[in-house]
Amino acid sequence: MGNKNLKDIDQFWTLFLDRDGVLNERPVNDYVKSPEEFVFIPGVLESLKLLNEKFGLILIVTNQQGVGLGKMTIGDLNGIHQKMLEMISMSGGRIDKIYTCTDIKTSEQNCRKPNLSMAFTAKNDFPSIDFSRSVMVGDTESDITFGEKAGMITVQVGDEAPVLRANFHFPCLLNFSEYIDY
Ligand SMILES: [Mg+2]
Repeated sequence: MGNKNLKDIDQFWTLFLDRDGVLNERPVNDYVKSPEEFVFIPGVLESLKLLNEKFGLILIVTNQQGVGLGKMTIGDLNGIHQKMLEMISMSGGRIDKIYTCTDIKTSEQNCRKPNLSMAFTAKNDFPSIDFSRSVMVGDTESDITFGEKAGMITVQVGDEAPVLRANFHFPCLLNFSEYIDY
C-alpha cells in the first residue's frame, strides 16, 4: 500500500489491538487467568477514550493459549473480558468486539497471530473493514507480522525487542493515541 499516514484516520478506519502488553500488564512467563490478575497499563483507559473518537471500529485480537493449555477455562477468559469491558466503557472507551485464539502454539493448524484467521473473521463480521484503512497495535513481532500481512499500518508499543519492520513505534498506547489525536 502507499501512504502509511496516521493523520488520515477517520471513522472509516478500524483499529486492531493486541491485549497483553498493550492494554494490560503481561505477567512474566504466565497468563492472566482471573479478573484480579488483569491490570491495565497506565494511560490505557484514557487512550481508549481518545481512540473511541477517531476510529469507526475498535477490535481486540488476542492469542490466549492459556485456555488451550488448560491453565484457565473459556469461562475464566470471558470473566476477565467482562471486567475489562466494564472498566473501558465506564471511562468513555469502546471495544466493538474481542477475537480470541485459544489454540496452542504447537498445534499444526492454529488461528494464532501472525495467522490472519482473526482478521478474516472480523472482516466477515464487519464487511466495512478495509485492511488498507486499518491499524494494528501490538507489542510483539507476531502482531507486526499479522498487521503487515493484512496490509495494515503497524504500530509497536511496549518494551519488547524492537521490530524494525513496524511502521511506527511508541512507548505505550497513550503516546500513540496522543500522536493521532492532533
Ligand atoms: Mg502482546
